[in-house]
Formats: sequence, C-alpha cells, structure tokens
Amino acid sequence: MPGSPDETSIPADAPIFEMLWDCRYCGTRKLLGKTHRFCPNCGAAQEPAARYFPSDAEKVAVKDHVYHGADRVCPSCATASSAQAEFCPQCGTPLTDAARAGRRASERRAEGESFAESRPPDPDAARQQALAAARPAVPRFTRAQVVLVAVGLLFLCGVAAYALTRTETATVAVVDREWVRSIDVEAYGPVSGSDWCDSLPPGAYAVSRHQAVRYHEQVPDGEQCDTIRIDNGDGTYREERSCFPVYRSEPVYADRCTYQVDTWAYARTVEARGTGHDTPAWPALDLTGGGRTCVGCEREAGRHERFTVYFSPPDSEGRLSCTFDAAEAWQPFRQGTEWVLEVGAFTGSPDCGSLRAAGPGG
Ligand SMILES: [Zn+2]
Ligand SMILES: [Zn+2]
Repeated sequence: MPGSPDETSIPADAPIFEMLWDCRYCGTRKLLGKTHRFCPNCGAAQEPAARYFPSDAEKVAVKDHVYHGADRVCPSCATASSAQAEFCPQCGTPLTDAARAGRRASERRAEGESFAESRPPDPDAARQQALAAARPAVPRFTRAQVVLVAVGLLFLCGVAAYALTRTETATVAVVDREWVRSIDVEAYGPVSGSDWCDSLPPGAYAVSRHQAVRYHEQVPDGEQCDTIRIDNGDGTYREERSCFPVYRSEPVYADRCTYQVDTWAYARTVEARGTGHDTPAWPALDLTGGGRTCVGCEREAGRHERFTVYFSPPDSEGRLSCTFDAAEAWQPFRQGTEWVLEVGAFTGSPDCGSLRAAGPGG
C-alpha cells in the first residue's frame, strides 16, 4: 500500500493535528478526532470511517501527543477506542483481538501549497463497500459450464482447421510456363551522407560542419520537497516532509557533418523473360568500366531467377500456378504433360510440394 504509515511509531518531530469527523446522527460537523471521542451534542460514538483531513486553515494542533497505535474497533458495537483500552467503554466487550481502525489514504502536496479539506465521500457508502469487499466472491459460472464451453470451442477450432486444410487430389495439365532471370547492377559514384564528424567514413569529401544536439544530460538541479499528511488511525494525523533530488535536461552539442563519398550503390536491374519452350537464359550484361573501380563504373551485384508453371484442371476454367527457384525443377513440366497434385478443397490453392507425374492409368 503506497504511503502506508508505520503502525508502531511516528517520527518524534512530526507535527500532530486532529482529524475531523461529522456526527451522522445529529449532523454536527467538524468535531475533533482526538478530543471528541463521542459527539458532544448527542453522545453518538465516533466512527473511524467518518474521519477526514481538515483544510490547512482549520487544522488544530495536538500538544504532547502520545501515540499508542491505531484505535481498536469493538467487534460488537463498532465503537473505536484507544489502542490501550482492553475493554469497550460502550459495551464492555474485550478488545484483545479487535481489528484496528481504518485510515484515510495519505495525501501529498508540494511544499508551500496548502491542503484542502478532504471529507470522506459518504461514510454509509464506504461501509457498504467494505462489507462487499469482505464477502467472498461468488463465481459467475460453474466448473461444468466452463468445461462445456472449452470443449465446444476446441471442437469448433478442430472443424475449422479440418475445413481449411482438407485437400482434394486433382489431375492437371501444363498449359503454359514462364521464366524470369534478372541481374542487379551497382554503379560507383558520389553518394551524400550525414554523420557525427568523429565517425566519418574513409574517403569522405565536400564536408560541411554544423552544431547539433547529440544527446541530453541529466544535471542535478537541487531538490523538491513535499508535505505528506498521514492518518495515525487514532483520531490524529501527522505531517512529514519528503525530499528528493530533481534534475534538469541539458543538451550536449557536437559537430555534425554532411559529406559526399564515392561508393558502390544500386543503379539498375537488367531482366530477361520467356515463355513456353524457350530455354532460360541470363540477360546480356554490358557493364561500364570493364570491372575497374572508377566514378561511373558498374559491377554485377546479385542474380535472381524465378520459374513458373501454369496448370489447368481438365474440368474447370481456372488456372493454378506453381513457382520454382531452379531451372532443373521446372524443366520436366513440358506443355501438355499431365500431373497430379493436392488442391485445398476450401482455399482452392495448390500444394506444389505434392506435384507428381500422372501415371499411365491417370
Ligand atoms: Zn451527534
Ligand atoms: Zn462495544
């Protein structure tokens, strides 16, 4: 619990003040938590749940306060008594195992700001809430209902998985095929860049510098103090001072450089493609510079190839396609040949890994 005060001791120098309470029987307001254990107007016992912090203007100091701990609350009549009391002054019930009085949550303000009065929302509502919290939670569903729903969900998942993965064997004929081969080409030449000046790439030229914020530094900037008021639970509260260091963020500047550097960079792609019975071939490559490194020179930077076969199921209009990375895998699929493969019954997409030549009977 944040701000939970120490149960047994309070700092010797902490100023102590009276909590306030309102009598809910006769309506008398702003009674003193320590001085008025009973309403001076009607005699009703003070209820710890009715206690609240006063505003700074109305706070009443307690002199020579001796702290014995939070009050004990009588289990029979709910009267709050000093922690020293052994029997309830109202009804005589022993208080040895009595619960301690509840406390208001601590409040915190920056030093110099003043506290406002913080009356409890409604003591009756607070009591109802405390009762509800103490009652054991009733589960909203029985165990059998939960199991039933879980089994139902599992069954639905199973049905969905079956429907999505179910395949049908189909005999298909090759109607077309296609190959694409491409080569990436890089060119050597000036590229613009920007970096911290102490980490420029080798060979950088046309450098220009300017100042820029490299990072922010957290610089100690004194301390900030708060005043916290803490319910002692015996009709009084104390004020404590809590200080912590604060920091301010200061920018740290460094030289930033923009530059040019000669380097290899992607320039273009040359591509060759064909269909049907063409034999796959790489595109003709005409590189400037003939393998040298000079401004404007070019070099090869990676080859890519893709082979596609289009199938038509004999009994349908649609077209299926399978793509291969290597020419060897693609070669056997000659125009008009027949193949067997699995097709998703629900998705209609082919499982290209299942492709096999149709037997003499199929
Ligand atoms: Zn009263
Ligand atoms: Zn009692």
